Amino acid sequence: SLSDRLSATFDKLRGRGALSEVDVRGAMREVRIALLEADVALPVVREFVEKATEAAVGQNVLRSVTPGQQVVKIVNDALVEMLGGGDGAEPAELNLNVNPPAIIMMVGLQGSGKTTTTAKIARRLKEREGKKVLMASLDVNRPAAQEQLAVLGTQSDVATLPIVQGQQPVEIARRALQSAKLQGFDVLLLDTAGRLHVDQALMDEMKAVADIATPHEILLVVDALTGQDAVNVATNFSTQVPLTGVVLTRMDGDARGGAALSMRAVTGRPIKFVGTGEKLDGLEQFHPERVAGRILGMGDVVSLVERAAETIKVEEAERMAMRMEQGKFDLDDLRAQLGQMKRMGGLSGLAAMLPGVKQVKQAMASGAADDKHLVRMEAILSSMTVKERQKPEIIAAKRKIRIAKGSGTTVQDVNKVLKMHQEMAGMMKKMKKMGGLKGLAKMFG
Ligand code: GDP
Ligand code: MG
Repeated sequence: SLSDRLSATFDKLRGRGALSEVDVRGAMREVRIALLEADVALPVVREFVEKATEAAVGQNVLRSVTPGQQVVKIVNDALVEMLGGGDGAEPAELNLNVNPPAIIMMVGLQGSGKTTTTAKIARRLKEREGKKVLMASLDVNRPAAQEQLAVLGTQSDVATLPIVQGQQPVEIARRALQSAKLQGFDVLLLDTAGRLHVDQALMDEMKAVADIATPHEILLVVDALTGQDAVNVATNFSTQVPLTGVVLTRMDGDARGGAALSMRAVTGRPIKFVGTGEKLDGLEQFHPERVAGRILGMGDVVSLVERAAETIKVEEAERMAMRMEQGKFDLDDLRAQLGQMKRMGGLSGLAAMLPGVKQVKQAMASGAADDKHLVRMEAILSSMTVKERQKPEIIAAKRKIRIAKGSGTTVQDVNKVLKMHQEMAGMMKKMKKMGGLKGLAKMFG
């Protein structure tokens, strides 16, 4: 597997400080192969590997996992983000927040699953959101294509536009719009014709329909098994019509899902649904984490590394506790605290680590250390020399000016950080006098 191969590459790295560029490039060769095996298009692989390398170089090697596993985690996180996921990301939804009817147009190659997906989306909107939905097939090329949609409509109890023989796509689109407006439909889904390959006649027809219908959503339907051709398909469609999203079909098969990354990278549009079967209930929301795991083909590596990162936090906390026992607290300790606070979700982290210390909580409450200031404080601490952080008393006026300049802040800001540090260091000393943490524990309880 990918993580085995990476572990082999990286075993020699164990115990070293940070991931170097040479090391990371070695691992990325394996990542590249995994991405290509998952059918991610080559130009997209190149771009992605470049970004992930940047993210990985310089990261500290965690002690409890192999560097290879750690790189997999970094690559996984970058993948998730590129697929539209990650912290605080909202799932991609259809934009139906318009004056009805909301118009959704489906485009894509022949056989990609447009007609099926049209019916699936219609069913979903009807059943989940109680929408009144009309579907219309504009496919006059494939024999019985319009009947196919009518059958699916009957199956799912969704209205379809009555078929009028001999009408061209643009005429049908016009008629569909009129019906949807007159009959008070909330949503109109336009299923279009595909071709075996991208060709200009198809593109012209599609553009003409888009001009008439002015859709709120234009969804590109793509077979998840599309390999290297994905970039061509995505480029061709996205340069001709303003796509708003992608639907990836046949994710129920053995597609690794590389097309998701290619589509996302080339169109810049979110994947809004995945097709997971021939039946009309085979439509799901897109989950970037799941697809990233599928692309990399790895089992527990991600959670393993997450647990390892937890351990590091514990180690840091233990180091902190030891410093407190000794009554020591320099600016490096403050910096370590800030980093930890950020990871632990802000200032509450510090409050939790220093139970019962009122002054710190007051400093936070007074806004001397709110989360906005965290970033600034970190910049200030980073602009100091190692010596300055270990011996804050040497920071006189000249040094303060230099630090302020270097961090893009003011001397007043620098003073605030120094004052906060003094207060905290003072508390550490007091705590030592009281018998350190054990003494505190007795006092409180
Ligand atoms: P169109 O030419 O783009 O309209 O494609 P169709 O909707 O007619 O679908 C072509 C074939 O793919 C049909 O046999 C569908 O049942 C099948 N299909 C569509 N979506 C999926 C999917 O998500 N999973 C599977 N397994 N088959 C699908
Ligand atoms: Mg069709």
